[in-house]
Amino acid sequence: MKKPKLRELKEAIAALIKGPYTSKFPFQPHKPFERFRGRPEFHEEDCTGCGACFQVCPAKAIEMVEQDGKRVLTVHWDMCIFCGQCQANCLTAKGIMLSNEFDLATTGKREDLKQTIEKELIRCECCGEVIAPRDQILWVAKKLGPLCFSNPSLMLFYLRNLGLSPKEDFPPRKENEFKRADRIKILCPRCRRQVILES
Ligand code: SF4
Ligand code: SF4
Repeated sequence: MKKPKLRELKEAIAALIKGPYTSKFPFQPHKPFERFRGRPEFHEEDCTGCGACFQVCPAKAIEMVEQDGKRVLTVHWDMCIFCGQCQANCLTAKGIMLSNEFDLATTGKREDLKQTIEKELIRCECCGEVIAPRDQILWVAKKLGPLCFSNPSLMLFYLRNLGLSPKEDFPPRKENEFKRADRIKILCPRCRRQVILES
């Protein structure tokens, strides 16, 4: 018989004194270690709705749809592989974060293992195309500070958000018919180029 090495003997004695390394979960609550990668959760106040987490998720566990003027983001915990890519690539670094929650077993439907948040979308006031979620534009404006005043759409959006410029209801319009007054509207990049060229 092969004799045990001294290192193995030392570990065996230490294990006898310390007791088992495994926890008694589920009979006793288990506290995960620091930096444990558990269930990812959206933090609505820190999420801008940019969709970067949706783009990078390798398991396609994050769903993004646009409906009724809103961007709807859903994280499906039953498909998540807890890789942490969503958190690592989040625009604000806090919009989605991995929690310590690991006990996801359920007797209910797996479709219920999800979290959904909604973000209001801002549309171009000429063509009606979606520009970006409100919170994302605001985040960019705040990040740029005074530099945001170099972009008319961004400046207008920022002032409206502060209540310094009233929101107007612009009627539907014919395509490719730009007037000088269109310069002072919140526009998508395509309409902004067109309005500068044609007015
Ligand atoms: S942890 Fe990974 S798999 Fe899970 S939602 Fe985030 S990116 Fe997707
Ligand atoms: S802010 Fe973060 S959590 Fe929100 S959509 Fe963008 S990447 Fe995802």
